[in-house]
Amino acid sequence: MGASSITCALARADFRTWAWWRLPWLLRLYIGIASFAALVMTGYAASQTTWHGLDLAKYSLLLGCGVASVMAKRGAAYHMGGMTRDFLSTWVLPVAILLPPVYAMVTPIPLQIITEMRVNKGVLYRRVFTVAVVGMSYGAASLLFRAFPDSFAGGAIGGGKHALTWTLAVAACEIVGGRGHNLLIAVAVKITDPKVSLLKLQLDREALQGDFAESDLGILITIVVGVNVVLAVFAVPTVLLIRTFMMHTQLLAQSRIDTKTGLLNSSTWEAEATNEITRAIRTHSPLSVALIDIDHFKRVNDTHGHLVGDKVLRAVTDAIQQHLRSYDRAGRFGGEEFVVLLPQARQADAVNIAERLRGHIAAMSIPVRDGGSGRVHTPDPSMNGAASHDESDPQVRLTISVGVAALNESVHELNALMAAADAALYHAKQTGRNRTSVVWASEPVSLGSSSEPDGPHGVETPSTSSSASTV
Ligand code: GH3
Ligand code: MG
Ligand code: MG
Repeated sequence: MGASSITCALARADFRTWAWWRLPWLLRLYIGIASFAALVMTGYAASQTTWHGLDLAKYSLLLGCGVASVMAKRGAAYHMGGMTRDFLSTWVLPVAILLPPVYAMVTPIPLQIITEMRVNKGVLYRRVFTVAVVGMSYGAASLLFRAFPDSFAGGAIGGGKHALTWTLAVAACEIVGGRGHNLLIAVAVKITDPKVSLLKLQLDREALQGDFAESDLGILITIVVGVNVVLAVFAVPTVLLIRTFMMHTQLLAQSRIDTKTGLLNSSTWEAEATNEITRAIRTHSPLSVALIDIDHFKRVNDTHGHLVGDKVLRAVTDAIQQHLRSYDRAGRFGGEEFVVLLPQARQADAVNIAERLRGHIAAMSIPVRDGGSGRVHTPDPSMNGAASHDESDPQVRLTISVGVAALNESVHELNALMAAADAALYHAKQTGRNRTSVVWASEPVSLGSSSEPDGPHGVETPSTSSSASTV
């Protein structure tokens, strides 16, 4: 190990440099309380436990299966709905049912340590928090299981009606353990980003599928080990297979979107737009597209750096999404270029939508520094779209140019529609930026050139807003 890597390792070990200290105070309080509560509860549960060699042997076998399923999936992590779904709880549920609560409370510790070492490096406070909430939730599930009368659940699964009620009791415990820890994590996500909708996070279709698969598998494994704990070894390949399948679903979903903005990527947008155009022509419905380009975006990068540039791209994305109807489709076309498909919108409707968006973006102030207000407010008109020079809280202000085109007799396929929108966008840029331009519906598209600064024939600019747009 070289001197510099030793210094880096020491710096990591220095707790004053931990990401923990940079968290908002409320999140730190929440994570701190959860972790402390888990520690106290685990200590209390341990003090109430009568330790048996057979229990330890069962625990070792179940933990061994959990460790094997983590190790076999080296380098892979499955994220969905803002959380990592690693299928580790499928191994915590059987522990919670077969053994006293303390076993379930400590099971996440080795599983998280091995995940950290073998799968992916995580942030320490997140690992500790996950251990705490999974431990507490499944500890509660274990207690709940012990509260059921023997006639309903009890130690052994048995047969006939008892096997059914035993399984129902296990399912109820999985709701407490699985939903419980997900909810505690979702609260942390909400504190981190108050704009996140908890309902959306929890009810996302793919997240629900992942949760259901994880819970269902946990219950099935528990039934199998309820018959005989040694049968757990047969469950390991099944856990791996289902996890691989879920990751495949996730990769498919990811291949459709632009990771920086979360909008559709250009190939997916084009495929969806082609389908919509075919439908619009078949049903004689109107349809428009708006091509959006941020004005002088290069200056944002040059002045504030690429990270701030990326933040601006995300702020513009948020604004675009706020202005869309549920059936509109927005995509990122290139660097700072976006495209929006507007089904059921005539050219005039599309211009209205574009103008509202343009006005909204021109009024936005995006804080350069993290932790800035991030609020959108109307800038001082005398600033004319320029960057705020308040050194203590610098803000980026920007404008967009928009080219709008609609389907008509001569424009009835995607390429022609995009060419028309591109011509309109070019015109908007040529005539001063911070404006929306359209191609006249009845005229053939005629592309302008920079030698025609007032724009080509067949293109008009409804907005005569201020032309200066600097960042
Ligand atoms: P105009 O008003 O004519 O559109 O000027 P512009 O500066 O916006 O356009 P130009 O094409 O000159 O520059 C686009 C810039 O966008 C250059 C490139 O570095 C930047 N860019 C492209 N993709 C990204 C990205 O993903 N992140 C960041 N931060 N910048 C990007
Ligand atoms: Mg640009
Ligand atoms: Mg561009």
